[in-house]
Amino acid sequence: MSLLRPTTCLRCDLRLLSLPSISSRRSPQRTPRRRTYATLHNTSPEIFDVVCVGGGPAGLSLVTALKASPATARLKIALVEGQPAQEWTPEPSRYENRCVSLTPRSVGFLGDIGAWEHVDKSRIQPYTRMDVWDGVSDAHISFSDPPPTSPSTIATMLENANITTALHRRLSTLSPPTLFQPAKVASISLGPPPSPDPTSLDLSSWPHLTLNTGPTLAARLLVGADGANSPVRTFAGIESRGWDYGAHGVVATLQLADTPDPPETRTAYQRFLPTGPIALLPLPGNRATLVWSTKPELAKRLKRMSGEDLVAAVNAAFRLSVADSYVGERIALMGDAAHVTHPLAGQGLNQGQIDAQALAKIIEDAVLHGEDIGALMTLERYNAERYAANNAMLGVVDKLHKLYNVGSGPIVGLRSLGLSVVDKVGPLKRFLMKQAAGV
Ligand SMILES: Cc1cc2nc3c(=O)[nH]c(=O)nc-3n(C[C@H](O)[C@H](O)[C@H](O)COP(=O)(O)OP(=O)(O)OC[C@H]3O[C@@H](n4cnc5c(N)ncnc54)[C@H](O)[C@@H]3O)c2cc1C
Repeated sequence: MSLLRPTTCLRCDLRLLSLPSISSRRSPQRTPRRRTYATLHNTSPEIFDVVCVGGGPAGLSLVTALKASPATARLKIALVEGQPAQEWTPEPSRYENRCVSLTPRSVGFLGDIGAWEHVDKSRIQPYTRMDVWDGVSDAHISFSDPPPTSPSTIATMLENANITTALHRRLSTLSPPTLFQPAKVASISLGPPPSPDPTSLDLSSWPHLTLNTGPTLAARLLVGADGANSPVRTFAGIESRGWDYGAHGVVATLQLADTPDPPETRTAYQRFLPTGPIALLPLPGNRATLVWSTKPELAKRLKRMSGEDLVAAVNAAFRLSVADSYVGERIALMGDAAHVTHPLAGQGLNQGQIDAQALAKIIEDAVLHGEDIGALMTLERYNAERYAANNAMLGVVDKLHKLYNVGSGPIVGLRSLGLSVVDKVGPLKRFLMKQAAGV
């Protein structure tokens, strides 16, 4: 491990992210109180088949998937994103601190919708080996394909901006959605009661969004891909349950002392310390991204370290939370709006990709079968497919977090035994590798 000790931080512009505590994230009312009828619309709303709030990786992937499919390309789609569009012009020697490990399944999905070819390949780093060990007992497990099998990719590291830029580039080659950016959702309500005129469209069950820039949009289907504090989830009256891990995360881009592996077989390292997991994930060249979630006081100390050793830190409250349901009448939640998980598993964005894939497929099927894409009956299929699968992953991550948050006692012995056993049982190890790779 000494070979991998980070020596120099390349970045000095880490941002401090502060997320509200879980209590403020919960929507207090489950009743559809917020879904009141709006009688004061004095301008006609613009009508869309799909309005997606949130242009992060999950929302952009869904919109790209819908526009890339011949069955859904003609749907009238709006994308609402609160942050201004930013050109990504990476400097060769600098890496963003927001990096993710994409599973082969997520890479495959991005390929299917034509976005992967737009990813800047000079800035991605696949890894074929993962070393995990217990910080207390030093029990160790190594995941990699044994010879003579050629090593297969466990995951690919890349910057978030590389993914979102590729999705924007791909979208620009398709019939574009109507983009409202920068525009924030100011309010969401239901449409007015039906008019006595039988020829007019009944919009009373359709969500109407008013944007802070002025326009009002009516949605046959409203998708909340608006992150952990999802206003769409609040409007839908869907509660989110969870708990704050009381952890802070420090992320940084590091320069390694040397690169022990050839580029095609790099290794990801994760060590479970009693104070929280620390992960070192490879970037191209001899760089790596550090994700260290730890106790707040320790994070503070890390942040106070010399500028050369650790130039700055990001303070993020890492939580695990999950919405009670991903759907409501004319509403679907996806990505972090539906579930937020501890970054120790590196699965949040990947789960959002599978959500996008599943929701796009269900909308496509509904269009092909002449069904209403916003009807709860249609959307229940998405809920059934993704809710259980995501919760299973969140459960495993949470158990791991609790298991490894113990510094002494019999649990340390048992978990070390567990790691050693898994390390020696080939089929079990291959099973776990497949889970990590999302295949
Ligand atoms: C340190 C760290 C490391 C991580 N590593 C990994 C990893 O290795 N692998 C992995 O899979 N995941 C990882 N994750 C998780 C991953 O980053 C998230 O799961 C993912 O970015 C969520 O994507 P999203 O599109 O659902 O939400 P977001 O990226 O949060 O996007 C939501 C968008 O909605 C917009 N928005 C919000 N409210 C409004 C509004 N009112 N009006 C208009 N727009 C609005 C926001 O501006 C934003 O652009 C990590 C997370 C952290 C913190």
